[in-house]
Amino acid sequence: MTSNKQAGLSIQTRVAQALGFIDEQTKGLVPPIYSSTTYLRDADNHYRSGLIYSRDDNPTYRVVEAVLADIESGAEAMLFASGMAAAVSVFQALRPGDHVVAPKVMYWALRNWLIEFSHNWGVAIDFVNTSDLDAIASALQPGKTKLIWLETPANPMWHIADIRAIAEQAQAHGIRVVVDSTVATPVLCRPIELGADIVMHSATKYLNGHSDVIAGALITADKNDEFWLRVRKIRRQAGAVLSPHDAVQLLRGMRTLVLRVRTSCESAMYLAEQLQQTDHVVEVLYPGLPSFVGHAVAVQQMEGGFGGMVSIRVRGGAKAAIDIAARTQLWKRATSLGGVESLIEHRASIEGEDTPVPNDLLRLSVGIEDPCELLEDLQQAIQAAHSES
Ligand code: PLP
Repeated sequence: MTSNKQAGLSIQTRVAQALGFIDEQTKGLVPPIYSSTTYLRDADNHYRSGLIYSRDDNPTYRVVEAVLADIESGAEAMLFASGMAAAVSVFQALRPGDHVVAPKVMYWALRNWLIEFSHNWGVAIDFVNTSDLDAIASALQPGKTKLIWLETPANPMWHIADIRAIAEQAQAHGIRVVVDSTVATPVLCRPIELGADIVMHSATKYLNGHSDVIAGALITADKNDEFWLRVRKIRRQAGAVLSPHDAVQLLRGMRTLVLRVRTSCESAMYLAEQLQQTDHVVEVLYPGLPSFVGHAVAVQQMEGGFGGMVSIRVRGGAKAAIDIAARTQLWKRATSLGGVESLIEHRASIEGEDTPVPNDLLRLSVGIEDPCELLEDLQQAIQAAHSES
């Protein structure tokens, strides 16, 4: 495998060719799947292959992790069995007594897990508005705060956090910054280039892109960082590892990442603009709209688009929102995001009673279908729901 980055190739070329991977043994263009769980020891009791047991030693990961590290401008990557497994491994690397700052509105399942984990593990967490630099600064506890967790754009209101400014604050206090960049993808934003220490992905979403693999990833700026080494140990010991079959399937999806993300971004922008002028839509939340709080920061740190995720708030509250979702034909009523097919979801229903998400909000994951057809379908559903209410 060559490092094409040094050769100045674009992310589109690097990812499409999996960094120019050719299997040395067969000259195959696609990496083999190593399904063996265990490896032969040398007669003199050494393991010169470097491979012992594939609960994190699986060579299938190498190409996939190399591509991820390359496109995120990182030093090293690790695959996990899910996005949650990747995120959880970061928090498990903290020690009792450590303090964490995390967003008030973020991927809900991780937020819920964090609340319980922090009690059980003796880690203190402050959930703050991470779009507000002053709120972050006042939450920091010198000597105690070890981690700032960011998600940008953040589910499902798409709040933007200023990664560069926050990383500067954090570095001054020796605090690590970890960014859930699932929604932005490395096509639009590379947090390590902005000063983050670790990037996290639910690779289930855009990286794979076809709603058929659950996977997670972490990418570090420094592979010798002792915190990263602790996370690596957690993957090895706790064993939340990806199946080698899924790793290869993920790589297949990643090859078209740039095309899919660009198409979704263009369609999301079009839909956001059109929906702003649609009757019964009270608010459109999309970082690409000049009226969106956080747009200016998004312009600075995202390049080539603002993502494929849009949320709308509709007149008539939860009842109207659920009714609209029920009347769509092309949009599929399903959770998750980042696949080629467009999804619609009433977020408050899945997040439960203590959600900070307004109950009139519909989350739209814009896929790669014809954007005019997507708009028409949504508009007919909105009109029909309101004409019968
Ligand atoms: N982070 C974000 C932003 C997500 O949307 C999700 C899943 O929806 C996760 C993390 C968790 O990833 P997974 O479902 O792969 O465990």
